[in-house]
Amino acid sequence: MARSLDRSRALQIRAEQLIPGGVNSPVRAFRSVGGTPPFLVRGLGAHVWDADGNRYIDYVGSWGPLILGHSPPEVIEAIVQAARNGTSFGASTPTEADLAELVIEAFPAIEKVRFVSSGTEATMSAIRLARAHTQRKFIVKFEGCYHGHSDALLVKAGSGVATLGIPGSAGVPEEFVEFTLALPYNDRNAVEAAFAKFRGQIACVIVEPVVGNMGCVPPRPGYLEALREITAREGALLIFDEVMTGFRVAFGGASELYHIKPDLTTLGKIIGGGLPVGAYGGPAKIMDLVAPLGPVYQAGTLSGNPLAMAAGIATLCQLKANRKQFYKQLDDMAGKLVAGITAAAKEAGVAMTANRVGSMFTFFFTDKQVTDWESAATCDTAKFGRFHGAMLDAGVWLPPSQFEAAFLSIAHTQGDIDDTIAAAREALALL
Ligand SMILES: *Cc1c(COP(=O)(O)O)cnc(C)c1O
Repeated sequence: MARSLDRSRALQIRAEQLIPGGVNSPVRAFRSVGGTPPFLVRGLGAHVWDADGNRYIDYVGSWGPLILGHSPPEVIEAIVQAARNGTSFGASTPTEADLAELVIEAFPAIEKVRFVSSGTEATMSAIRLARAHTQRKFIVKFEGCYHGHSDALLVKAGSGVATLGIPGSAGVPEEFVEFTLALPYNDRNAVEAAFAKFRGQIACVIVEPVVGNMGCVPPRPGYLEALREITAREGALLIFDEVMTGFRVAFGGASELYHIKPDLTTLGKIIGGGLPVGAYGGPAKIMDLVAPLGPVYQAGTLSGNPLAMAAGIATLCQLKANRKQFYKQLDDMAGKLVAGITAAAKEAGVAMTANRVGSMFTFFFTDKQVTDWESAATCDTAKFGRFHGAMLDAGVWLPPSQFEAAFLSIAHTQGDIDDTIAAAREALALL
């Protein structure tokens, strides 16, 4: 009862002639799971439809932004209204400060924030700022964490880099990553050792406080506290890359969930409400090093774009209006989904470890606990690929990679979750 994907197949063939791999971001290709990637033409609530008219329950949510589900009326209305007044000016518009205020209210560590157009720009700029502030060169990142595709951060990166098994990236001279130290995640001792070896030379530690980009991997108890303590002691900045976790694991992101105050925070995804936005922020005395006040140059033709600001404001206002109830409902529903699928795997005798923090989760096809990249890499990716294909056939859209987090939105209903668990039970039984 495989679904027809004739139209998608034709669209893919056409796209491949015009665009590398037919995709504008490699994670959208189905390279690691196989099969034809359906082309999507519509989304509403928890569901998406492909070009052949097939419907799917969506657990990708545009890779994180769509915490309200697809096409929430308040957000669409805000975008349409903004568009009627002009799409871009290259001058300041009133709504930029409105979104800034919402972000600053949610993240006590942020006193001032700068908007950019992607998470990649946000992390790249935060690193530049950290180096300028500390006047040091080295940066520490962690294996399996993804911070966008800027040169210095494409070292042992997660997400598509991990999915495609690429060690780093061609086209990045080794001299460009000479100052990037990649350490195992969740390992305090490795961080201590790096600071001992490069004393006084490390500008910052950048971390996904809950990793999403090697699949969902939570921090061990005490790990983020250790990063805070070590960086403070050594005069380095701690950067929380909350592009995925910001407004996802809690209104105030992982910083709120784990009660840690980083020096700099990067945001993206949810703050754009489905339009392209990124942001970086921190204490005013550090942020004021950015041009035009200071010597750190960073700019953007479409930064603070009025449509993107409108979508972000409408989204954050929805989250804020009922934040306690909102995040509790997400957590409860995601808990039910993950418990149901974990039980189904057990019944089917399939080795699977589920990790979940709030509404982000991953089903790892391994019998090991997944706490870092080394353990994530023990997964049976071929088995994941078969699971992914069977779920897609049954109308459930999961990320097309073992090393990506799935997301629940507030639009998912108990019915969606029941249907997903039923589909998983059948898919797991056939593995
Ligand atoms: C998605 C993501 C990025 C990159 O954001 P883009 O908007 O894709 O450039 C950076 N960091 C983390 C943690 C992410 O999840």
